Parts: sequence; C-alpha cells; structure tokens
Amino acid sequence: MNVFITGANRGLGRALVQYALNNHHHVFATYRNDPGDLKNDTDERLSLFQVDVTNDHDLENVVDELKRSDTEIDVLINNAGLLIGREASIDFVSKEDLMKSFEVNAVGPALCVKHLLPLLKSGEMKKIINISSDSARLMNPYAGDYPYGMAKVALNMLTKKLNAELNKDQLQCISVHPGWMHTDMGGEHAPEDPNTIAQSIFEKIILRNERLPSDVVDFNGEAMNL
Ligand code: NDP
Repeated sequence: MNVFITGANRGLGRALVQYALNNHHHVFATYRNDPGDLKNDTDERLSLFQVDVTNDHDLENVVDELKRSDTEIDVLINNAGLLIGREASIDFVSKEDLMKSFEVNAVGPALCVKHLLPLLKSGEMKKIINISSDSARLMNPYAGDYPYGMAKVALNMLTKKLNAELNKDQLQCISVHPGWMHTDMGGEHAPEDPNTIAQSIFEKIILRNERLPSDVVDFNGEAMNL
C-alpha cells in the first residue's frame, strides 16, 4: 500500500510513518522545514518531500515527481495541522490567527486533495483521511480555540463535500478525531500515545473491511456526532 502523509516529521504524523514502515507499506512523507529524524531513516520504502501544505508549487512539484515514476497513491493522510489563538474570549481573537488557522487546517488539506487526486483515483484503496478534532464539535462546543475549531469544522465540510463528489469514483474521505495526544500540540499531560493512535487509525479505519458507520469518526472508528 502507498501512503502519503503530511506533517510527518513529528507528532502523530511521525507515528503514522513509523507504523506504516513497520508494516511494510510504502510511505511518501512530507515535512515543511526540518525532516527531523526521518532524514536518518534508510528504509527504502520511505520517500521524503519538502512540502508546505498551503503552497501549490510544493504540491505540484511532488505530484510531478510521483507521476514521473508512475506512482499511485492508495491513501492520503492530511495530518499537518496548527493550533493557534487559544484565547477563551472572542475579544482577543485576531484576523491573523483566524486566517493562518484556516490556511493550514482547511485550505492545505483541500489543496493536497486537489493535487493528489489523479494519483488517488488510480490507486487501489482510494482513501483520504482528514485528521480533525473534537474542537470542531457543533453539538455542545466548548468556549475558546476559535481559529482552530472554526477551521476544523471547515475541514469536516471538506470531507463531506469530497464524499458528495467522489463516492461515485469509489473514493472515500473520512474525518478522524485522534483524541488528546501527547505531542508538541497536545502537551505533556495528554493521555494518548500518538503511536497507539497511529496503529488504531491504520487498523480500525484505513484497513477496516466493513464500511465505517460515519464519515466522521474517532480513532476507534466509532461514529462521532461532530
Ligand atoms: P504537532 O504540532 O505535534 O505537529 C504538527 C505537524 O504539522 C508538524 O509536522 C508541522 O510541521 C506540520 N505543519 C504545520 N503547518 C504546516 C504547513 N503549513 N505545511 C506542512 N506541515 C505543517 O501536532 P500533532 O501531531 O499533535 O497533530 C497532528 C494532527 O492531529 C493535527 O491535524 C492536529 O490538529 C490533530 N489533533 C491533535 C490533537 C492533539 O491532542 N495533539 C487533538 C486533536 C487533533 P513543522 O514541524 O514544520 O511545524
């Protein structure tokens, strides 16, 4: 299986790369600035690309390179994300944080799908995983995290729109809330180990045989009412 993972240099993205390599999948891993310890990994099934997910040119370059080697993509994991503007009150929300959050959390994944779609359509599995968040909850949302929560709602709408357009081509898009994870974003007190979450995302969502109960699920593949 060929898996394309954005924001793969740290956190959940890095854990997803490791799980996929350990299970003999081919991984196309992207990093924005610093590949971190990925640059020391000599696994021949790992290919690295420098991609800012908000940059059309970066994505065009990757797709051109993959097309030259006739590479198909089975699964795209839109993992790269940004948590900024954590103030609890609208008084302190800035346009800059709102725009940046939308750019990374919603616009970037849409651009990734747009550019990679031809390679996904020729792949066998035809899956797009959008890593979302329960900050996008529309039922009983909590106060605060305006830029992040608003942008992840937009990401979930991307999931819905893609399914409305592409289910006819057997392409399936799924939003996944990964839980509160111990990463740079989640912080040291977070209960979930990103390696366990990565395993669950592969085994209970990507590789699951029967259809998922919803196109918005938690990391166990259970339907979420977001
Ligand atoms: P981290 O902050 O640890 O890592 C974020 C990753 O996204 C980094 O690789 C970062 O790259 C990359 N990234 C940010 N902006 C861009 C960009 N413009 N282009 C390309 N890559 C970018 O986050 P987590 O691993 O914790 O989060 C992974 C996903 O899970 C995110 O979508 C997040 O919103 C979601 N999530 C996380 C939760 C948690 O508790 N941690 C809870 C709910 C959802 P760089 O190193 O260059 O900054």
